[in-house]
Amino acid sequence: MPYKHGKEGMVHGRMRTSLRHVFSKRPQTLNLCPMIASEPVLLNDTNRKIIHIDMDAFFASIEQRDHPELRGRPVAVGHADSRGVVATASYEARAFGVKSAMPSARARMLCPDLVFIEGRMSVYKAVGEEVRGIFRRYTDLVEPVSIDEAYLDVTQNKLGLELGVEVAKRIKADIRRELHLVASAGVSYNKFLAKVASDWRKPDGLCTIHPLRARRFIEQLPVKAFWGVGPVTAEKFEKLGVKTGADLLKMPFSELVAQFGQAGVVYYKFARGIDDRPVQPAHERKSVGCETTYEVDLPDRAFVLEELGRLAQTLEERLRRSRFVGTTLTLKVRYYNFKTVTRSMTAAVPLTEKAAIMRAAAALLTDVDIPARGVRLLGLSVSSPVQQKDARQGELF
Ligand SMILES: [Mg+2]
Repeated sequence: MPYKHGKEGMVHGRMRTSLRHVFSKRPQTLNLCPMIASEPVLLNDTNRKIIHIDMDAFFASIEQRDHPELRGRPVAVGHADSRGVVATASYEARAFGVKSAMPSARARMLCPDLVFIEGRMSVYKAVGEEVRGIFRRYTDLVEPVSIDEAYLDVTQNKLGLELGVEVAKRIKADIRRELHLVASAGVSYNKFLAKVASDWRKPDGLCTIHPLRARRFIEQLPVKAFWGVGPVTAEKFEKLGVKTGADLLKMPFSELVAQFGQAGVVYYKFARGIDDRPVQPAHERKSVGCETTYEVDLPDRAFVLEELGRLAQTLEERLRRSRFVGTTLTLKVRYYNFKTVTRSMTAAVPLTEKAAIMRAAAALLTDVDIPARGVRLLGLSVSSPVQQKDARQGELF
C-alpha cells in the first residue's frame, strides 16, 4: 500500500509501520501452532427472536378437518396403488409406524385399516397461504421453507410483543381458532435452534431455547438432529465417534473442515449455538433493475455506453443482494422528448455479472437510435427468474 504524503499521511505511515512490526511476528506463531491459528473467532448474536413454525401432519390434518368421518382414524394422503407413496400420515397412522415417503404397500402392511386419500394440492396451497397470512399479522420477515414450514424473525414484531414465545403462542392460537389446524413452534435466537426446538415436542409443540440454555441443549442433541446431517453424514460422524452435540464440540475445527469441507465450518458453528443466517422473506420478484434520469441529456452513443457501464455495475450489486437470478435483459432508453424505447434479449445462461450484462446491453444498444438532442434516461433490468432448486441449502454449504 502506498503511503500518503502530507501531515495526515505521516500519521498513517507510522501506524502502518508499527502494525507491520506486529504482523511480522504472526507467521512464526502460525507455524508453531497451526491448529489454534485456524480456529475462527466467532461472534454469537443472541439478540434476535426467531420462530420456526411447522404444521403438524399438514395434508392429513386438512383432510381430517374437511372430512369429519376421518377424524381419529389412521389416514395417509397419497396413492393407494402398489407404486404409490405416502405424502403425509396422520398421527393415528404414525402410531403404526407409517411415515412420509413410505411406499403405500408397506404402509398398508403396517396398518391394515389405513385410509388412503388422494391429495388435493390446490387446497393445501390455499391453506398454506392462509397460514402465511396469519404470520404476516406479526411480521413481514417470513421465510417459507416449504408449504407447511416457515421461519419468522419477530425481533421487531408488529404488536411490539417483548417475548418471541408470546408471538409463537398467539400464532398457534390463531391457526387453531381460525383454520382448525395444529402447528408446532420453536423459539430461539437463530434459525438452527428454532428449527430444533419446533421438532422437540411435536405435535402441538411449543419449545423455547433460551441463549443461556443453548449450550446444554445442544450438548445432549443427537448429531443426526443437526441441520444438514443426513443419513450419510450421520454415519460418518458415528465412525468418528461423534454421537451428540457434546461429542461434536470436542472435534477440533481443523478436523471438521478436513472431514466435511465447508459443511464442517457450519457444524463447528452450530455446535457452539452460532447461526447468523438471516430470515429471508420470499419476494416473488419478477425482475431486478435500476435506472437513472440525467440532469443533462446524454449527447451521444459514447456517453450512453459509459453510463450503461455504471448501471451494469449497480445492477450486478442489486442482483447479488437480492439473490435474483434471471436470463432476460431489458434496456430502456428515454429520449429528450420522453419517447421511450425498450429492447430485450434472453441469454442462454443467467445474467449475474457486470461483464455479461454489459455485453448484452451493448448488443441491445446497437438496435437503438440515439437522437442528436440526446437521451434523458437509461435503465437496465434482468427478468425471467430462474428457479434455483435448494438455493438455500446451496448457500449454507
Ligand atoms: Mg410439517
